[in-house]
Order: sequence, then C-alpha cells, then structure tokens
Amino acid sequence: MDQGQTLLSLQETDLAIIRTEKRLEELPVKKSILATRQKMRDVEALKAKVGELASGFSRAMSRNEDETAQIAEKFDTEQAKVMSGDITNPKEIQHITREMDALRRRKEKLEMEDLDLMERAEKAAGQVAKVDTALKQLAEQEATLTTQFRTEGGEIKTELEALNKKRTANAAELEPELLTRYETLRAAKGGVGAASLKGHMCSACRMELPAQRIEELLAGPDIGVCPVCRRLLVTTVVEDDS
Ligand SMILES: [Zn+2]
Repeated sequence: MDQGQTLLSLQETDLAIIRTEKRLEELPVKKSILATRQKMRDVEALKAKVGELASGFSRAMSRNEDETAQIAEKFDTEQAKVMSGDITNPKEIQHITREMDALRRRKEKLEMEDLDLMERAEKAAGQVAKVDTALKQLAEQEATLTTQFRTEGGEIKTELEALNKKRTANAAELEPELLTRYETLRAAKGGVGAASLKGHMCSACRMELPAQRIEELLAGPDIGVCPVCRRLLVTTVVEDDS
C-alpha cells in the first residue's frame, strides 16, 4: 500500500475501533446487569426493614413472656397468703383479692397481646422468606447475565484486539511526520483526520470542491489538504460519488 492508502486504512480502522468500543460499552446485557444489581440493592434494603420488624416483634414477645412469668409468680404468692389462713383481717383479704383480680386482668391482656404479636411475627417471617427467595432469584439472574456478558463482551474484545493490531501495523507503515499530522487532526476534528476524494467532494466534510481546486489537488502531492475542512486529503484514491 502507498502512503495514501495506508493513511485511509488507518482512518477506517480508527473509526472501526471507536464503533467497536461503543458496542462493547452499550451491550444491552450490560444494562440488564446494572438494572439487576440495582434491584438487588432495593430488595436488600427491604430485607433489612422486614428483618428489623420481625426482630422487634420477637423482642416484644419475650418482654411479654417475662412479664407474664412475673405476674404468675405474684399471683401465686398472693394466693398462698390467702390459702395459708394467716390473714384474718377482712379488709386485708379484700385488698389481696382485688390485687389478684388486677393481676388476672393484666395476664389476660398480655395473652391477647401475645396472640396478636405472634400473628404479626408470623407474617413478618413470611415476608422475610419471600424477600430471601426474591434475592436468590436475582442473584441467579445476575450470574446468568454476567456469563452472557463475558461471552458477548469477549467476542467484541477479540474484534478490538484485531483492529488494534491492524492499527499498529498501519501506523508503523506511515512516515512519522504524516502520522503526527494525522493524529493531531484526528484529535481536533471529531476522530476524522484523513479523507479521500469522492467525485468532487471531500469524503469527510462532504463539501463540493470547485473544479479548479480538484485539478490543483490532483496535480499536487498524493496527500493534500482539503481546502474546506483542512483535513488530509488523499488524492490518489478517488471513490465513486455513488
Ligand atoms: Zn473536507
């Protein structure tokens, strides 16, 4: 290949590299992975909330149990006093009986509360189980997607490696000064530093060049400069304007 052809090949390869990198970046499976991970974080947060709720219920249940035990003990003590026959003062007996009634009522109330708490705790445990199942499913989904990403991404990376090899070979063939000019223009002009003539047009800026300019370019060096966009213009490769 002559310098002009090599330059155009390098340009084409550079654009292919950009397209391929974009394809890798925008792989649909990548978006799916990110979405799945977000969902996992949401469900983890939900799990923490539901777990807190469940442990709140179990703490309340054990407080309830403690109090129930204390009441039973007190009740037994009071009952033992009455049964012992030591207390003969009717007022005192009346007082103890009232006390025992109050303890019984409190015990009944605690029992009701305990049933209610049990029901709520069961519900919360059910929710925890549901959330765990959801998390497990999401983790499986994430693993499948990651495998898919490795396969698809791996294919694109292989393509990229081949393109980069081609780029290195093309760049090595170019005269250093020409390569530097190309790189500078490429950086300054949206990734396109070299163009060819397409009929009467510059293939990069797509401006129709006056016939006289075309003549001058064709009479000049193999690689000139587009009078409109100032990119390197290869004049030995004239494409059809179809
Ligand atoms: Zn141009």
